Amino acid sequence: MISIKGLYKQFGQLEVLKGINLEVKKGQVIVVIGPSGSGKTTMLRCLNVLETPTKGAISIEGQSLDFSKSVPKKSVASFRRLTGMVFQNYNLFPHKTALENVMEGPVIVKGEDKTTVRKKAQALLEKVGLGDKIDYYPAQLSGGQQQRVGIARALAMEPEVMLFDEPTSALDPELVGEVLKVMKDLALEGMTMIVVTHEMRFAREAADEVIFMDGGVIVERNKPEEIFTTPKEERTRKFLNMIQ
Ligand code: ATP
Repeated sequence: MISIKGLYKQFGQLEVLKGINLEVKKGQVIVVIGPSGSGKTTMLRCLNVLETPTKGAISIEGQSLDFSKSVPKKSVASFRRLTGMVFQNYNLFPHKTALENVMEGPVIVKGEDKTTVRKKAQALLEKVGLGDKIDYYPAQLSGGQQQRVGIARALAMEPEVMLFDEPTSALDPELVGEVLKVMKDLALEGMTMIVVTHEMRFAREAADEVIFMDGGVIVERNKPEEIFTTPKEERTRKFLNMIQ
């Protein structure tokens, strides 16, 4: 359902992605780990076309973009709707309430009917445990609550895939659990997810497979129980020894 072929990304002289190949099946939860600077965020941002890859092709649910040719803006816009992105720093609109934040995409980007969207947004905020906070502004919410609004906002666009970029890294430790719980529930519902995280417990409990990236390539991919206990590659072993 997701296919990444020969993906390269260069920033000036710096080649950050050096030929990523990845296939993800519908409903799979993939956790991406790896040292700082290995290209994890850049790979996610390429999937959402927040960054334009230098080379390579990506395809999601039959829609493809081939970056060896020039890609029309229109194709990028429709491709982007296939993915929902959750950012480390929530990226909510500060002057909009939780409900308005969740409604923004479907109303403005998709042009959906406001009354219908309002109902959908309310239901999504209830789903992430914020049914009583719909009229709160981001500044009136804790980090964990803001991130749950961020998840509801991404889901409101009804994406095929959810991309999470270190969704709990900015949170106080006591708030991490509530966000991971929402993510685990989503995984159980069958959402296809790619999650960049340092939360190894989440990887153990929720991931179908873990990918270890280093130096702009995928070094190893395996089931969590395999990769954490018997990593095949020396680089994976070294990284896991450092963080565990
Ligand atoms: P971390 O775990 O620290 O978030 P990462 O594996 O997600 O790291 P990336 O954020 O993808 O790594 O960054 C990979 C490299 O690309 C880094 O050296 C970073 O400085 C560089 N980089 C990322 N975005 C840009 C940009 N917009 N312009 C220039 N360099 C960039």
